[in-house]
Amino acid sequence: MSETKKFKTESKRLLDLMTNSIYTNREIFLRELISNASDAIDKYHYLSLNDENLEKRDNYEIRIDVDKDKRTICISDNGIGMTHDEIVNNLGTIAKSGSLEFLNSMSEEDLKNSNIDVIGQFGVGFYSSFMVAKKVVVETRSPFENQGYRFTSEGTETYKIEEIQKDQIGSSVTLFLKDNVNEEDFNAYLEQYKIESLVKKYSDYIRYPIKMKVKKEIGEKDEKKEVEEDEILNSMIPLWKKNKSEVTTEQLNEFYQSKFNDFEPPLMSLFINTEGIFTYQALVFIPAHAPYDLYSDKYQKGLQLYSKGVFIKDKCDELVPDYLRFIKGLVDSSDLSLNISREILQQNSQLKKIASNIEKKILAELEKMKNEDFEKYSKFFEIYGINFKYGIYDNFGEKKDALKDLVLYHSIKEDKFITLKQYKEAMKEKQEFIYYATGKSKTSIKAMPQMDMMKKFDYDVLIFSDDIDEFAIQILNDYDGIKFKSIASENLDLLDQEEDKKLDELKENKKSLIDKIKEILKDQVDDVVFSKRLVDSPVCLVSGEGLSLEMEKVLNNLPNSSDVKAKRILEINPNHELFKAIETVFEKDEKELDDYASVLYNQALLIEGMPLKDPLDFSNKICKLMIKAAK
Ligand code: ADP
Repeated sequence: MSETKKFKTESKRLLDLMTNSIYTNREIFLRELISNASDAIDKYHYLSLNDENLEKRDNYEIRIDVDKDKRTICISDNGIGMTHDEIVNNLGTIAKSGSLEFLNSMSEEDLKNSNIDVIGQFGVGFYSSFMVAKKVVVETRSPFENQGYRFTSEGTETYKIEEIQKDQIGSSVTLFLKDNVNEEDFNAYLEQYKIESLVKKYSDYIRYPIKMKVKKEIGEKDEKKEVEEDEILNSMIPLWKKNKSEVTTEQLNEFYQSKFNDFEPPLMSLFINTEGIFTYQALVFIPAHAPYDLYSDKYQKGLQLYSKGVFIKDKCDELVPDYLRFIKGLVDSSDLSLNISREILQQNSQLKKIASNIEKKILAELEKMKNEDFEKYSKFFEIYGINFKYGIYDNFGEKKDALKDLVLYHSIKEDKFITLKQYKEAMKEKQEFIYYATGKSKTSIKAMPQMDMMKKFDYDVLIFSDDIDEFAIQILNDYDGIKFKSIASENLDLLDQEEDKKLDELKENKKSLIDKIKEILKDQVDDVVFSKRLVDSPVCLVSGEGLSLEMEKVLNNLPNSSDVKAKRILEINPNHELFKAIETVFEKDEKELDDYASVLYNQALLIEGMPLKDPLDFSNKICKLMIKAAK
């Protein structure tokens, strides 16, 4: 039986990308195939522990066979193999749902222009074979089927699946190398030394022997004979089982790239080797770019879990707190039982201790990065910082003390990120609060009327551009005893006594006017007051204690929001020309004041970036006033 099937569209696109790629790092195809073979053996081993129908084995191996005449390289394993449906689902379709979404999100144009780093977002796996091969043949047999299958693809629209006789469970992937062209000589991959060096470079840690027939000379001088013998190319010691002092950062980075399919080295790599009450090794990495689906529901956090070098679980989420969900890596502990089930894992106190230990180590390493290489830390924070802000907020601030010195902010005065500590140290003598403003950009915040006083006193203001920011500092409450204050909150209290007195007097004198405006706007605002903060602007809207206007916006945008409202206070600048005009109107004809008050309030809303309740009415009133002014 033989059938011809079409690749799924996304797979076809990835294939095109691979076949036409001008990427110089083609050699990684080998590590990808070896890594698949190793995963397949892991799977077999794991299944055979609990499935009596699977023969227990101890002869696991990965083989590389080269045929120089046919120009083929064959990578074979005695792992789990694939059923017919698995071939279709795993090779005919991009296996990782994430990769698929990512590809779908790219336009044809993007794909054409993309360099390989884009591919690095999700790893290329099996398809990378097409960087060096014009034809790929996979022969495979799963223990759950009675016969084997041959998958053949020439990197075109379709692939073929045939039934074959195959006795051994496992897979072999044969690559028919591309023809040599001027710039590129694919024959290099047929050379023994090349394969040896690639395995050493990328796959040394693979725990199963990678065997290849190599030519050796044996015998005495006169009777030298060349024979072919199997040689194991890899040391088989998992990187994390090696002596920590012998493992270089380069090795860690290379391991990360091969294990987690990334074309970029990680931003940070950490090798933890702890002995004592509990013994474990961990390799933890922070990718240099956020996985593109990090914030989607489908993203699964977690570290791989091993016990005594044997793979147990792919994404063990108990090992990673939410705010570190972007880390990748693995943990190997000799104290965990192999057949550990999910439920048991969850309650495993050993695992909890390891998790908390790893968390501390990561935070310490980040703290170190912050102190020693602030630029790098800023880059880290740019990519992942928002998670830390959520981390402060989560679980009623359980982690706030651990995280408060690791969050960075932009500020009005600084061009780079600053810490809360740096803000505190730069505070002016009389300054009592850490001021912040919520807004999308520095420019928009600088233009806020509430900034007037800050400029006057030369106070720096933290820029809160993430929705979570205000919620996080509400949980923090203070930093080192210094409270936070929004420049848009009531009671900014920046005036000295004399100015305060003047304002009080004014309040007395103009009470009837203010009361009148309050009366007109009683359905819109909770209070109308003279502003202590405005210098150049006529009005602004501020919020009372508790919920801020920004938080109101965020909460009301949540899927099942319950129309919450912040306390609104309209502040009027008594020194502004506009206020003088209003006074005149009030004295002349009280009734006229209705329109003025309403326009004033709507202006304040606009400045805040809040929606107007009745834009048409606002526009009509402006028209009316303009026409009147021209008369
Ligand atoms: P990844 O390995 O990153 O999931 P690949 O494209 O490399 O992506 O492989 C797709 C899937 O094909 C694998 O997840 C695995 O299920 C299957 N596969 C690939 N190679 C083998 C193999 N040698 N033996 C068994 N299954 C394999």
